Amino acid sequence: LVSRQWKRDPTPVKIGDREIGEGRLFIIAGPCSVETEEQILTTAKAVKEAGADALRGGAFKPRTSPYTFQGLGERGLILLAKAREATGLPITTELMDPEDLPLVVKYADAIQVGARNMQNFTLLKKLGRAGKPVLLKRGFGNTIDEWLLAAEYIALHGNGDVVLVERGIRTFDRTLRFTLDVGAIAYAKQHTHLPVIGDPSHPAGDRRFVIPLALAILAAGADGLIVEVHPDPDNAWSDAKQQLTFEQFKELVEKARAVARAL
Ligand code: PEP
Ligand code: MN
Repeated sequence: LVSRQWKRDPTPVKIGDREIGEGRLFIIAGPCSVETEEQILTTAKAVKEAGADALRGGAFKPRTSPYTFQGLGERGLILLAKAREATGLPITTELMDPEDLPLVVKYADAIQVGARNMQNFTLLKKLGRAGKPVLLKRGFGNTIDEWLLAAEYIALHGNGDVVLVERGIRTFDRTLRFTLDVGAIAYAKQHTHLPVIGDPSHPAGDRRFVIPLALAILAAGADGLIVEVHPDPDNAWSDAKQQLTFEQFKELVEKARAVARAL
């Protein structure tokens, strides 16, 4: 269902009132985690002003250590909805537990499947019936074909609105946090009709590398970006090293648009 052999023309996916994959650069931006009302509102306003199309923010966080911040849960979703109300930006957020699906559906305009859940087939099947677009992150230990088959699960169970997200894989080299697989983006664009975007933040692991990776993602043919932005990155409750300042995000948008225009 997701293959270009089945359907040749690209399938745009609607997030809120905007389409992704329509030959136009689509940028999703916001903090790794929703922390406070002020944090999410100021970020929403800043990214909107800089040109973002949607706001991201985690309320349920898949943290490596159980002793670190796990997300605000429903309170985080409520704050995201407030930020949508204040800015008009559609909101995207991660769902980890299939049990939380009704809650996340109530608030989100698009539901993110995190890298660690890419092959949670129970979750994928339920998202097939969720009636919301899905951002499907590639697992950092998964092949491209496994990623496309995960999208196939969602489509087969009734939901064709899937956006593929390359976010870096684990390789022998641990200098950067993950290895951004730009080849996967070029491959996915040719083999599926679904929109493909890239996340430069998680492979970079360090804000100094986020802009170059973002430009590489677009040069490889992606339809857009999902990027972490925070009002005070150094004091963020998760992924502090890699989140962009508002200033850096503005720079990213300008450079990203220049690359998109050149293609
Ligand atoms: C995130 O988007 O904050 C996140 C946890 O991403 P990933 O699932 O790609 O690690
Ligand atoms: Mn993060």
